[in-house]
Amino acid sequence: MGKPEEMWQCQMSNCGFIYSPDRGDKKGKIPPGTPFKALPAEWKCPCCGAGEKMFRPLGSPGA
Ligand SMILES: [Zn+2]
Repeated sequence: MGKPEEMWQCQMSNCGFIYSPDRGDKKGKIPPGTPFKALPAEWKCPCCGAGEKMFRPLGSPGA
């Protein structure tokens, strides 16, 4: 199981996609086991297309 601080959530109000390193991102050709910070700069939310900057770690509430 991934730790909350390793899981990142898309902050777009109509999305809420959670990136889990355990799963990676099939659509984006990211293999399981890839930490969020190791994602390529051009990676985008597979759900809404937002960039990495729209993501926040689940483990840091309200920051
Ligand atoms: Zn999204």
